[in-house]
Amino acid sequence: MTYSISKPVIDKEEIDAVVAVMKSGMIAQGPKVAELEQKFAKFVGSQYAVAVNSGTAALHCALVAAGIGKGDEVITTPFSFVATVNTILMCGAKPVFVDIHPRTYVIDDRKLEKMITAKTKAILTVDLYGYPCNYNKIMKLAKEHNLVVIADACQAHGSEYHGKMVGNIADITCFSFYATKNMMCAEGGMITTNNPEYVEVCKAFRHHGMTKQYQYSGIGYNYRMTDINAAIAIEQLKKLPVFNVRRDSNAMDYYRYLKDNLNIMLPRYDNKNISCYHQFTIRLKRYDRDDFLKYMASNGVNCGVYYPEPLCYQDHIKSLVPFNHHFKVVRRVCSQVVSLPVHPGLTSIDIAQICKIINEYDP
Ligand SMILES: *Cc1c(COP(=O)(O)O)cnc(C)c1O
Repeated sequence: MTYSISKPVIDKEEIDAVVAVMKSGMIAQGPKVAELEQKFAKFVGSQYAVAVNSGTAALHCALVAAGIGKGDEVITTPFSFVATVNTILMCGAKPVFVDIHPRTYVIDDRKLEKMITAKTKAILTVDLYGYPCNYNKIMKLAKEHNLVVIADACQAHGSEYHGKMVGNIADITCFSFYATKNMMCAEGGMITTNNPEYVEVCKAFRHHGMTKQYQYSGIGYNYRMTDINAAIAIEQLKKLPVFNVRRDSNAMDYYRYLKDNLNIMLPRYDNKNISCYHQFTIRLKRYDRDDFLKYMASNGVNCGVYYPEPLCYQDHIKSLVPFNHHFKVVRRVCSQVVSLPVHPGLTSIDIAQICKIINEYDP
């Protein structure tokens, strides 16, 4: 038996939906994209949704809609996928990193305010592993300092914060439908917002900057989603609540079976801050990570390391970081995290077996 870290669910519904679009002859952006936008907005409770062809494209559109450009500063976390920071750089803006919280691994809201300068235009939060940031505090700070909050929710489809869905908390929220995410369509992305002006900018920006036929508001890209991808995403969105119940149940099994293991630290659990468990990420307090990963793999369990190195130390980014900023927490966390398989294809028997393997580790 081997357990993979992620496994997209592709059933008859997804396959039939793709075939139907192919047979319709309308395969590029069309009615299926519009249907997905309407249904996704309804799911998160936002007024609007704009579909694009990746989570990265969604972030780029959102930053442009927020007016981010050359010379602006965007406050963000060093603990994310590189697209979070690359899209800030694509706008010609400067990422300003704030260290992460030692237990929740998202941006440490207690350290955020002192990084705000006259050049700060936005805060780009990341709901890492599906765990929502402390939005009560962040939205309040943003209001006081007149900043736009953009949420990178590429790992947080269906997460909830104090009774509100992620996607309807920040000013603009970005999702990814990449193959490994909680819902997927091979490649795809979505922007949600309640601001019609942001919608207008995003819709033009995904379509070459076009506002009317052959009239342009400025530079744009081809970030359009196809109806083929949208048809898959519509089927996945129907199943997302069930996928997330399965993930949650797998996560609860991990908490139950690993709670007495003193060599590992379990992720923060908070019943007001509901994770969609994109990842179930433990920290190794005593073990060498490479040895542990080898042991797990030799027992058929493929784990993940998200992410091994803080973004503030990547070659193309590190020159932008002041030399006297240290990011102690993220450095330690990066060296200790291990994500365990939690995808909806796993049963409680599988989780029990994986936990038995972990609890028997004796290096
Ligand atoms: C997946 C992911 C992205 C990028 O999404 P793509 O669809 O692969 O472009 C951005 N940020 C985070 C946190 C992600 O997990």
